[in-house]
Amino acid sequence: MHCGLGARAVATTLGLSYITRMIRPILFHPDPRLKKACSDVVDITDTVRGLAEDMLETMYDAPGIGLAAPQIGVLERIVVLDCVKEDGAAPDPKIMINPQITAQSDETNIYEEGCLSIPEHFAEVTRPSEVEVLWFDQNGAEHKAGFDGLWATCIQHEIDHLNGKLFIDYLGAIKRQMITRKMQKFKREIARGKAE
Ligand SMILES: [Zn+2]
Repeated sequence: MHCGLGARAVATTLGLSYITRMIRPILFHPDPRLKKACSDVVDITDTVRGLAEDMLETMYDAPGIGLAAPQIGVLERIVVLDCVKEDGAAPDPKIMINPQITAQSDETNIYEEGCLSIPEHFAEVTRPSEVEVLWFDQNGAEHKAGFDGLWATCIQHEIDHLNGKLFIDYLGAIKRQMITRKMQKFKREIARGKAE
């Protein structure tokens, strides 16, 4: 029971302290904004750059390895990621604007995925193990590169967000509904905590 606790206490009880100190609040499933296809960025302005920086900060703070703009309620095709996980390794933040997968391997990989918009829920998802991606950086320079391993999975997960697709959409209906019901309950608890 979380009655009588504030949002911070609820989040702390749930081991999710990032919820109350997010630079940009992250939307939680179910939310209609997480189901929408996002628009291309037409002009890489200071606003876009500021947004991307905030997204990186929000992602590192969570901590997470990827974040897509719709997760903070901005329906534009921007993702940030950093899949460097080794202790002591230099961070490798990437900002991808209008990312597109231009090629993918027939070979697949299975990773246990999670999502900052669906905290505490994880499931195995099968995806192509290698992808080639075309994107623009925050300065408008075009890049094309191949990714494998966790990077490939994370990029596909984030690009899915731009198309209104979540990792739970790869699961069977029963499992997806179970997670959605638990998330509805979780959101009620957070909302109740904030109201107090
Ligand atoms: Zn996600």
